[in-house]
Amino acid sequence: RTVYLNGEYLPETEAKVSIFDRAFLMADGVYEVTSVLGGKLIDFEGHAKRLERSLNELDMPKPAAFDDLLEIHRELVRLNGIDEGMIYLQITRGAPGDRDFVFPDPATCEPTLVLFTQNKPGLADNPVAKKGIKVISIEDVRWGRRDIKTTQLLYPSMGKMMAKKAGADDAWMVEDGFVTEGTSNNAYIVKGNKIITRALSNDILHGITRAAVLRFAREAQMEVEERNFSIDEAKEADEAFVTSASTFVMPVVEIDGVALGDGTPGARALRLREIYLDESRKAAV
Ligand code: PLP
Repeated sequence: RTVYLNGEYLPETEAKVSIFDRAFLMADGVYEVTSVLGGKLIDFEGHAKRLERSLNELDMPKPAAFDDLLEIHRELVRLNGIDEGMIYLQITRGAPGDRDFVFPDPATCEPTLVLFTQNKPGLADNPVAKKGIKVISIEDVRWGRRDIKTTQLLYPSMGKMMAKKAGADDAWMVEDGFVTEGTSNNAYIVKGNKIITRALSNDILHGITRAAVLRFAREAQMEVEERNFSIDEAKEADEAFVTSASTFVMPVVEIDGVALGDGTPGARALRLREIYLDESRKAAV
């Protein structure tokens, strides 16, 4: 596999980063994951804008302009012959030379820019979407700036492990009695014609897929309610689902062992998945 590191396309075994890189020592990095369908990028502009926002929030220098980033994404897709899959991009504050809590001077800071692809044939026609996933609820103990897409992913990773141990697929995190989001996705419940999901704030990641799916839901005459919901309310819902760049719209069929409806993916979740895939393919770049 060919990867990208600071201006060069290299075999993955030849791409090397300093042990003093602040992402390695302090998780001082931000990232984006963009999906590829039919060899084209899905929602690239949304991901690039959110990346810019994450960098700004952390006073991190931007190592490449929008057009350059698009070109690098496209070139990696081409070099690795990706038809369906993902592109991972990470920017870190680089390796100032020694370990220090203080940020290096932005004027001399050399950020590290890394991209790699993941080949996932069958990503769109994922069989998991036909049977749905099971989630458990866990406490949300992450930091207070979940709107910034940083590489601090230890707790989400622990959450997935807790789910796995419990025989489930993923975990929904709960804070002050209300669901924030999934470990790597935004969470929704459906009641009648209403799609309910937590409103945007610093408490959750502002999902790029979320923005598109809510727009498509409104266009398809579904009602959208952006508000808090509890696990108890979710267990009584007609349907549930999650969204992310890598899973698109994924139906949830069980919460903490309680089956939703008849325990199969809901009609609205499946409809939104279909619309999202159709529309995203049309708009792909
Ligand atoms: N919430 C969290 C915590 C995530 O990690 C992700 C994606 O990685 C999402 C939501 C979904 O965001 P997006 O639709 O932009 O992939």
